[in-house]
Amino acid sequence: MQLDLIGKSYGPNQVLGPIRLSLTRGQRLAILGPSGMGKSTLLRIVAGLDPQFSGSITGDDRLALIFQEPTLLPWRNATQNITIPTGCSVAQAHEWMARVGLPAHHNHFPRQMSLGQQRRLALARAFAAQPDILLMDEPFASLDGETAARMIALTSELLSGTGAGLLLVTHDPNEARALEARPLRLGGNPAQIQG
Ligand code: ADP
Ligand code: MG
Repeated sequence: MQLDLIGKSYGPNQVLGPIRLSLTRGQRLAILGPSGMGKSTLLRIVAGLDPQFSGSITGDDRLALIFQEPTLLPWRNATQNITIPTGCSVAQAHEWMARVGLPAHHNHFPRQMSLGQQRRLALARAFAAQPDILLMDEPFASLDGETAARMIALTSELLSGTGAGLLLVTHDPNEARALEARPLRLGGNPAQIQG
């Protein structure tokens, strides 16, 4: 994935300035910066969710996204929450559920699962899509310290096991460190990478 951003504005408000990023399998990058700096805007551009920017994005990497909210389908059980969006088989979905520590939740609905379990299901769904690069937007923000640490360790293990790359956006430098992601700080107005 190669991003060559010239700029991104919402109406008259330029949020992002020139930013170049390049990322491939096996590499881990973290975009750091305070709330409102444009981190989610940048990630949405990389994810292809926002075509309204000036610049270019190239590469044919398979991407998977994890947001702060688990964004599960409420009327589908855990297995279907993996098979429907990814197209993987039921057996593969069950294998991913086992790998994230949800071996007994195949038929549970999201509302029957704790927030931590829903996050793990979202992680299983992301990896079931067999991404080259995992994009994460503040994925650990609303978890308690212990749950966040477990999720970070699990994420790191799955990234290493699959060889997927990571683009993490977060306000928390500790998350970047724990995931061994190279930190890049967003700052300025419009925001750019400051090193
Ligand atoms: P971060 O993720 O770093 O908190 P965002 O990318 O969400 O920052 O937002 C960056 C800036 O862009 C903020 O000032 C925000 O208000 C503005 N912004 C974000 N999304 C929109 C939108 N859809 N329309 C207008 N302004 C937006
Ligand atoms: Mg954000």
